[in-house]
Amino acid sequence: MTSAASTARTARSSELFARARTVTPGGVNSPVRAFDAVGGTPRFIRSARGAWLTDVDGNDYVDLICSWGPMLLGHAHPEVQRAVTEAVSRGTSYGTPTVPEVELASEIVARTPVERVRFTSSGTEATMSAIRLARGFTGRDVVVKFAGCYHGHVDSLLAAAGSGLATFGNPNAGPSTPGVPSSSTDLTLVLPYNDTAAVAAAFAEHGDRIACLVTEAAAGNMGVVPPDPGFNRFLAETCARHGALFVSDEVMTGFRASRQGQWGLDGAVEGWAPDLMTFGKVMGGGFPAAAFGGRADVMAHLSPEGSVYQAGTLSGNPVATTAGLATLRLATDEVYAHLTAAGETIKEAAADALTAAGVPHAVQSTGTMFSVFFTEGPVRDFAGASGQDVAAYAAFFHAMLDAGVHLPPSAYEGWFLSAAHDDRAVQTVLDALPAAARAAA
Ligand code: PLP
Repeated sequence: MTSAASTARTARSSELFARARTVTPGGVNSPVRAFDAVGGTPRFIRSARGAWLTDVDGNDYVDLICSWGPMLLGHAHPEVQRAVTEAVSRGTSYGTPTVPEVELASEIVARTPVERVRFTSSGTEATMSAIRLARGFTGRDVVVKFAGCYHGHVDSLLAAAGSGLATFGNPNAGPSTPGVPSSSTDLTLVLPYNDTAAVAAAFAEHGDRIACLVTEAAAGNMGVVPPDPGFNRFLAETCARHGALFVSDEVMTGFRASRQGQWGLDGAVEGWAPDLMTFGKVMGGGFPAAAFGGRADVMAHLSPEGSVYQAGTLSGNPVATTAGLATLRLATDEVYAHLTAAGETIKEAAADALTAAGVPHAVQSTGTMFSVFFTEGPVRDFAGASGQDVAAYAAFFHAMLDAGVHLPPSAYEGWFLSAAHDDRAVQTVLDALPAAARAAA
């Protein structure tokens, strides 16, 4: 393995990072942005256009983070920019109902099985609110989740959580972080992903106490681990049989894995629907917007129609919902076909390069979402994902970065593409792969 230190010009980023650390813990505003897992200095990005990021030292990178999912159309898309600029010119927040939130809610209702939508500002709030609603609706307390799935930094769901917790945290079923009392996770049952026997056993034992089961529609926060065929349907049916709600978290997969998210790949085909769903990322078009929604009779329990309280000063913000609406309206079948084709090219080249270099790996995907595991074989759950050679990933990451490709600085994350990843951007990735694979060997 080679050194994980990057050789690119980073003087200005290093200077800013040193300054950031004096005013912000770890110098970053979300742990996944840190380079702690791979070593080195995070790049401070000055601007972004299409598939490219430009850092403060003037280095250009093909962006395979895409803001951790949202930038489906690429950066600074002219039509999204125009819609946002017009929205800003009309004022930025009123604290009253507005037109774009009704239109965005209608777009989400049209594309997914949800009948009613409530906006929030983050995916964390969306899943937190969905769980509160499930508990209020059912009058039950227990929540089931899967190890390696991440649903935002909701106290009760920070148990064996993925994303930054997989990178930096504690993988056990109790709280994944100090600051969450065990009383907050005592009512959370953590099961292995893709394990129908464990789900059946948990419901057999606790079924009448379970308010909901929440799952990532396809796991993306331990790397991409697709649900086994029929797994989500099994979850929906098991919940229904026991009077619990099935909450499908599509914050990452929604409008990304396919035009209708992961649900478009399984529920829509197999003929079932979650009781509640959560969305974020793509539907905010790069702004802070997220949502939860679902069956009208369940959503009717939300305040002010019902008594389950949930609120937000900036929820449904007119600029954010305008950006989300413009993004979804531009996210046509052609966009998803392009993401599929570009993804296939990169996945194949990554597998070829790693094979040629003798680096154990598994390339996994669901719809247009994919990631590369540095493991001996395919990954079906968190235990498998945790067996990665993170040192090999660090070497690979830095070699890619040096060659002008910005991957997520963690082996536990998906690689994201956009409609703007054209031939030049894809070729830059392909050109970088062989040497990066050798660096990881
Ligand atoms: N749910 C899933 C599946 C996510 O991937 C994330 C964020 O990565 C969240 C919820 C939390 O969203 P946010 O970071 O907007 O709070």
